[in-house]
Amino acid sequence: MRFDVLTLFPEMFTGYLGESVLKRAIERGLVDVRLHNIRDWTDDKHHSVDDRPFGGGPGMVLMAPPVVECVEAVRGSEDSEDKGHLVLLSPQGRRLDQSIVEELAGHRRILLLCGRYEGFDDRIRTILRPDEISIGDYVLNGGEVAAMAVIDSVMRLVPDVLGDEDSSGEDSFSRPGGLLEYAQYTRPRVWRDLEVPPVLLSGNHQEIARWREEDSRRRTRQRRPDLLE
Ligand code: SAM
Repeated sequence: MRFDVLTLFPEMFTGYLGESVLKRAIERGLVDVRLHNIRDWTDDKHHSVDDRPFGGGPGMVLMAPPVVECVEAVRGSEDSEDKGHLVLLSPQGRRLDQSIVEELAGHRRILLLCGRYEGFDDRIRTILRPDEISIGDYVLNGGEVAAMAVIDSVMRLVPDVLGDEDSSGEDSFSRPGGLLEYAQYTRPRVWRDLEVPPVLLSGNHQEIARWREEDSRRRTRQRRPDLLE
């Protein structure tokens, strides 16, 4: 699975790409993340990417030419025949959930376009027709954290990325019925007078599966009744 991130701040990804599950997935060749600096597609001497909004108002707006030219160049790069699925990170997009993550995981290549400042000149949308994705009803300073959320959630579904093949299938939202995951415990068995539910120590796999199923329903009912509807 390949991700191309188009951003003004590629260095924000350095730490993220070099840690844990994603680092291993990249080393094993299961995931490929390429970073592209939108500023490289400017041609004036100040490398400007933003300007004041027509009509007035606060802040700066990302200009169409460097953004569109960056997307077109990255899409058409010779090292990939797949033009990729273009995602524009935006608080105005469809809100990311596990079903959208599964849908995105069906693509072999995803381009993630990160905004900054007051966002994009709207003609970018007209020309590129991107899939706009929001990670929630709040406003971030830029699309980079949102792009990391997309990469992080999608790459978990790439075959062989997670050590235990089953582990994403037991997760919240991926469980049958889209329910929340049951409570998990590990050693010590008793800590600060709190005991692990005895059934989990029983070795009876059927009983454990039943308890987990009930706990999953109980937690979903208490925390996210909307998921049961
Ligand atoms: N003025 C824009 C608006 O009100 O819709 C918000 C611009 S925001 C300060 C700058 C950039 O951060 C956006 O262009 C987008 O790329 C990113 N961003 C902010 N909130 C986001 C969210 N909830 N989900 C995804 N991206 C977001």
